[in-house]
Amino acid sequence: MNKIIISGLAFALLFVGGSLVFAVTNPLEGKVIALDAGHGNGETGAVNKKYGATEADVNWDVVVALESKLTAQGAKVVIAERLSTRRDRVADAVDKCQTLYGRKCDALVSIHHNGNDDPGHDGTLVIYNEKQDIPLAQKLHDALLPLTGIDEGYLHGGYGMTVYKNLVSVITEAYYITNDEKAARYLNDLNADGISNLVIEEADAQVAGLADYFASQSSGGKGRNK
Ligand SMILES: [Zn+2]
Repeated sequence: MNKIIISGLAFALLFVGGSLVFAVTNPLEGKVIALDAGHGNGETGAVNKKYGATEADVNWDVVVALESKLTAQGAKVVIAERLSTRRDRVADAVDKCQTLYGRKCDALVSIHHNGNDDPGHDGTLVIYNEKQDIPLAQKLHDALLPLTGIDEGYLHGGYGMTVYKNLVSVITEAYYITNDEKAARYLNDLNADGISNLVIEEADAQVAGLADYFASQSSGGKGRNK
């Protein structure tokens, strides 16, 4: 947790009343972040055959944990309705950013978990569509990779939610829910509140990746956030 907080901080030098002040700013503060929990609405996504854990459930649990962690860091979070088409989900997210916070979403992260016929297969993959998505894709990829230690890199192309509207958006596949070790941990390794420690671990990694992304955007010299 300490590591997350430290990596989520950016430092800035400010002149206040003629003297130099060392100030700490949180790059997530005030950012409007849209989250999507992949599948749901009658669609399971990938399913672990041995344990019956479904991707849709994992995706939702991560989004719920992530929302509370991001909100605690001062971000403004919207969750896309689990509508049946991806286009409708993005439209819902865009609508909520505008209605609730009066502006465009700063980023959209669609949470998924991968599937494979081999119950031993695992790996971390991030999917993006446009050039503007690459910095976010890289930060989330790097933050999520320790969950598996197996780098499946990036998929680039017109997948899912990343193709609609002009939003910085990525799809994350932090690990394979068809992996038996992961499914067992998701179901059985619970904290005192009954929440999966694997879900918490991923939500912490997502927060760290998003914080790194926004920190890099504000210090990148382009003044995008000004
Ligand atoms: Zn999926």
